[in-house]
Amino acid sequence: MLAVLRVAGITSSTVGSLDDLIAEEPPTQPDTLAPGETLDLVLRRGGLDGVAVRQVVKAAPMIDPRRLRPGLAVEFVRANDSTAATEILFKLDIDHLLRVSRVDSAHWVAREEHLSWETDTVVVRGAVQTNLYDALRGIGDELFPGTSHDALVLEVADVYKFRVDMSRELRTGDSVYAVVERSQGPESTTRVARVLATRLFVAGRPIEAFFYEAPASRNVYYDAAGKSLATAFLRSPIDFARITSGFGSRFHPILKILRPHRGVDYGAASGTPVRAIGDGTVVRAGSDPGGFGNVIEVRHSNGYVTRYAHLSRFGAKGRRGTRVMQGDIVGYVGMTGLATGPHLHFEILVSGRQTSPTNALRNVDGTPLPSGAKPAFDLRRSALLALLDRSPGVVRGLVSD
Ligand SMILES: [Zn+2]
Repeated sequence: MLAVLRVAGITSSTVGSLDDLIAEEPPTQPDTLAPGETLDLVLRRGGLDGVAVRQVVKAAPMIDPRRLRPGLAVEFVRANDSTAATEILFKLDIDHLLRVSRVDSAHWVAREEHLSWETDTVVVRGAVQTNLYDALRGIGDELFPGTSHDALVLEVADVYKFRVDMSRELRTGDSVYAVVERSQGPESTTRVARVLATRLFVAGRPIEAFFYEAPASRNVYYDAAGKSLATAFLRSPIDFARITSGFGSRFHPILKILRPHRGVDYGAASGTPVRAIGDGTVVRAGSDPGGFGNVIEVRHSNGYVTRYAHLSRFGAKGRRGTRVMQGDIVGYVGMTGLATGPHLHFEILVSGRQTSPTNALRNVDGTPLPSGAKPAFDLRRSALLALLDRSPGVVRGLVSD
């Protein structure tokens, strides 16, 4: 009789895929290393005697018995139900397997196997109801199961980090298209390899992005005209992945009552990093008596000043006189000053006047590709545009190496 241990931590898909690796499908017995357990103990539980345990350990020096992680999946393979295991599989990583096989009564041999990831190309498309997550949920769920769906959303948001504030600027009726290289590994694990092209309609205006690695350039996304999507300013001082729910909603009425509210509020957990949206110099860092609480102001080379308020504390770069680079952490979200909950109050001052970030950053542009790179880019853009307009689904089969 086949003894199957039901062990917490092994999902049915884990067991299934290990089974798949064994062509002739002899009886197998899956097990998992529990916290505090030794390799000896697991091997003995699998039916090995003391001699066999020592031989297996000796054959597999790549397994350090003192550094085993709890949850390690182990599988015992037998010729039939009544004999001892002749093969032991250790799942070292999702795509890394160690197979230890019995040669004779005195010897076992170990062989490492790297399970392959396969890449294909898919087209996804979605309509925005409230945000980018729900926009990609419908079609994305089949193509990007589980956590890969969130990864897809964050990758697309990241492409637009210089152009669109995903937490505030999307509205019902906006839409998103993307051509995505997808990797699928063992156990149906799906990963976003990279976003090859995407088109986002914001208030009826398309913003396209094409992945292109130009020689001697750090930028990888370009618009249809061949200008880099990267600009001198990030569209949001908080990474989209860190924004909490309540997209676009303002939620501290106190300030709205006391004075006109020309800033933007980002709901985020206390302690969330706040980043300078562009290179500049910190011109103010301290406590504001007027309601901003702990506030940072950064002056940028084009004369803009960005203001970050209600901070719980200042970052390493949040000191007056400090030079900051785009993305440097100047402080952390809090609720100091006049705030009813943790959030970041953010302003852009143009010639000293509060200006909506959407307006202030509207005409900030990226660098064009060097003219020599343009013909190759144009070819690639045409190919990607054709893919963007295809129906959602897999458009290009598995890429073989
Ligand atoms: Zn505010």
